[in-house]
Amino acid sequence: MQIDLTGRTAVVTGAAQGIGRRTAEHLHAAGATVALADLDPDRAAAAAVPLGTRAIGLGVDVRSRATVDAMIGAVAQRFGGVDILVTCAGILYPTRFQEITEREWDQTFAVNVSGVFHCCQAAAAAMRIRGWGRIVNLSSTAGKSVSTLGGAHYTASKAAVLGLTRAAAKELAPFGIAVNAVCPGLIDTEMARTNTTPERLEAYARSFPIQRLGRPEEVADLICFLASDHAAYLTGGSFDINGGDLMI
Ligand code: NAP
Repeated sequence: MQIDLTGRTAVVTGAAQGIGRRTAEHLHAAGATVALADLDPDRAAAAAVPLGTRAIGLGVDVRSRATVDAMIGAVAQRFGGVDILVTCAGILYPTRFQEITEREWDQTFAVNVSGVFHCCQAAAAAMRIRGWGRIVNLSSTAGKSVSTLGGAHYTASKAAVLGLTRAAAKELAPFGIAVNAVCPGLIDTEMARTNTTPERLEAYARSFPIQRLGRPEEVADLICFLASDHAAYLTGGSFDINGGDLMI
């Protein structure tokens, strides 16, 4: 099975690093034109440069509907439309339940939930024009269980992404738009490394049936499949990729 995204235009948020960056690279390698969007426009642009043609870097703050609309508008104007959206922008606080502040709670939901909502709604409007679309939202094993590293706000936000994904999938299917979520376990990125010690990461890795951390490129491969025509009968789903950490 070969994934061919030639002629498709993809927007990836959180694309300056980690899962988002690998996803943008894999979508690009499969033939898509890719907009790499992130909070810092310079880091987004720097991630786009090695891809050469068919790639641009854009600044976006997914908490702000205005900047999300500007991002989708800029991509549609430059490339003629938007076919694929991958929402990788996310934040995690490792704070324990009793110590979570109102600010942290609100920030987590602003990025991880409202940010996904803004991007999905804005991209879906563009996708409806073409009658075809693929949206892949980043939830987490946390969305189905409890986060290994993150606090209750992270777990709750990732569960919210699953509900948002299902509801959007049901309403957008008649317009040719599929909406799915991926639920990674512990993946070797900055998010994992900055929120615990190397020793604890190693111990977590050893505790999984597949005794290592996931790699961002493995998550990117799953996302590319969901963004392709091979996934034509999949919508409203949540796809686990966690080395067997959670089996349900
Ligand atoms: P990461 O390495 O921390 O990358 C996330 C990116 O999102 C960063 O470049 C970050 O920019 C950007 N971002 C943060 N807030 C933003 C905002 N308001 N607007 C636009 N961009 C923003 O994370 P990752 O590990 O690749 O994770 C990607 C997604 O997968 C996240 O949703 C995460 O929750 C989810 N996930 C990760 C894991 C894991 O183990 N790594 C597991 C399950 C799910 P700054 O660095 O400038 O803040």
